[in-house]
Amino acid sequence: MIEIVFATNNPNKLHEVQEQLPKGIKLISLKDIGCNEDIPETQNTIEGNAIQKVNYIKKKYNLDCFADDTGLEVEILNGEPGVYSARYAGPEKNADDNIQKLLYKLKDKANRKAQFKTVIALHFRGKLITFEGICKGEITENVMGSGGFGYDPIFKPLGHSKTFAQLALYEKNKIGHRGQAVAQLIDFFEA
Ligand code: IMP
Repeated sequence: MIEIVFATNNPNKLHEVQEQLPKGIKLISLKDIGCNEDIPETQNTIEGNAIQKVNYIKKKYNLDCFADDTGLEVEILNGEPGVYSARYAGPEKNADDNIQKLLYKLKDKANRKAQFKTVIALHFRGKLITFEGICKGEITENVMGSGGFGYDPIFKPLGHSKTFAQLALYEKNKIGHRGQAVAQLIDFFEA
């Protein structure tokens, strides 16, 4: 049995990752270790932020842990909102406002190609390792579906007619950015 801290305050991420992990890997939440503060994410890359989060927990609590950082990269916007996905429409980090801002920016745009990128950083037995997952797709014209979180209602993965918010969680995990990075994390633990 491996017990590992997942350094996230996002209950949606916790739920997604928990669903995917085999029984032999038990997640410890930040609440479990008494960490109630916001972990700084001030780097200008997704990888940099993932590493910053695990370094923070490792330094302060001396515990093995992993963290994910995710960004939505839209081709015609030169990769925007990318590392700024969470606070795209302002520091309140409001998902609906972020969606509306992005839909507005893409109004009348034919090229709606986008990708989600997740980097997971892991501190484990003295090593720092990263895993990356990418999911290509497109931004829809309207909000579709009520599942998932963040930009899920406007992201349609390549080859699918539904948005992430319309797909079942196991389907999102199978093809999604975070799911792919988590699959590599599981392979690492099981190797
Ligand atoms: P962070 O990784 O928590 O910094 O997330 C960055 C932004 O991307 C936030 O606005 C999240 O809501 C959004 N986000 C992260 N993961 C997903 C996802 O799987 N689907 C949709 N939006 C996501």
